[in-house]
Amino acid sequence: MEQTFIMIKPDGVQRGLVGEIIGRFEKKGFSLKGLKLLNVDQAFAEKHYADLSSKPFFNGLVEYIVSGPVVAMVWEGKGVVATGRKIIGATNPAESAPGTIRGDFAIDIGRNVIHGSDAVESARKEIGLWFPEGVANWSSSLSPWIYE
Ligand code: UDP
Ligand code: MG
Repeated sequence: MEQTFIMIKPDGVQRGLVGEIIGRFEKKGFSLKGLKLLNVDQAFAEKHYADLSSKPFFNGLVEYIVSGPVVAMVWEGKGVVATGRKIIGATNPAESAPGTIRGDFAIDIGRNVIHGSDAVESARKEIGLWFPEGVANWSSSLSPWIYE
């Protein structure tokens, strides 16, 4: 089953949005496979965002991610990478549709509350980086009520 890496950024934690965000993924029907609250250091944040290292906003982005604890999660389900990105909304909250997490809870692109993997392959890499210890092994007994 497909998995994605979702991270509630420091602003999401500080603003008390953890429960709201987890609730949206849960209520959709996806399964929580990994969950932890942690602070990351600069080197780790730079590794997570390595693909963006040449961007002008890179240093500010790294500073933002290390500014407080984040909630790192692995969610599982059919199409969870693409659907997770839809639940999150467009990168710039000014363009995120209402009803999405960024559309409902953010204003500035540099404080957009949440990260979600953009492809199955990047999800695999990010899950390996954030959860080297592995994730929980369980399957929801609700599966037959969610999948036909
Ligand atoms: N970002 C930014 N300024 C920009 C573009 C991106 O501060 O002009 C930040 C923003 O927090 C975004 C993150 O960098 O979520 C990663 O950028 P990406 O293009 O991967 O967007 P995402 O996949 O998070 O939607
Ligand atoms: Mg991205």
